[in-house]
Amino acid sequence: MTTLYAIYGASGCGRSLMPIARQQLSRQQLAREQDQSEIVFIDDALTEIDSVNGHRAMNYQSFLNESASTKYVQIAIANSRVREKIAQRLEADGIQLWSISADNVILMDEVQIAEGSALSPFVTITSNITIGKCFHANLYSYVEHDCVIGDFVTFAPGVKCNGNIHIHDHAYIGAGAMIKQGTPDQPLVIGKGAIVGMGAVVTKSVTAGATVVGNPARIVTTSQQ
Ligand code: UDP
Repeated sequence: MTTLYAIYGASGCGRSLMPIARQQLSRQQLAREQDQSEIVFIDDALTEIDSVNGHRAMNYQSFLNESASTKYVQIAIANSRVREKIAQRLEADGIQLWSISADNVILMDEVQIAEGSALSPFVTITSNITIGKCFHANLYSYVEHDCVIGDFVTFAPGVKCNGNIHIHDHAYIGAGAMIKQGTPDQPLVIGKGAIVGMGAVVTKSVTAGATVVGNPARIVTTSQQ
């Protein structure tokens, strides 16, 4: 019986997450006896089975055609709307989302993370935190206590998400952005689909669909959510 794992997306995000997927798989294999398994790339730009960084790479249809007793997929694509669309397709096809995390990720107490997350090296998630589906936390990001993060949220490298912050679905937080802590009574809220620019210093809540940049962060555009 074979278990087939895949990284969906063979561009920058996918090729960066593949080594983390290998770490994840070797931890799983230590935890329980696992028969045969392989990690491949899925990328719909491919017309035939190829090789990327030493792994077999194929389009989604070829992946479906592979014979394996169980299949798991990590959707390694930064665009959260694409992640959602692919997650729906996987669900319809009965394929499970695969959560991966680097060996040196730190998770403290009472952390709940839904399926399909990707936690890159040096990510720290402290205590009493809830996170939704397909969360991507890139290198050196942290999430402090009492945060609530929705589905398909993306952190670029080095995001500093302090305590009592609520981040809604599809928000994107740029590299090195810093978000001020809220309070238990009044969490700081990053609204649905909001974009926080690289290096922004966010001192107050951001409305859904807004793009904010700078220090202190100010709205530059707003899109319909
Ligand atoms: N892709 C895909 N199926 C889709 C949408 C995207 O296989 O439905 C692939 C696309 O061919 C590309 C990758 O996902 O190789 C996305 O790469 P991109 O450089 O846009 O972004 P990143 O790797 O930074 O997420």
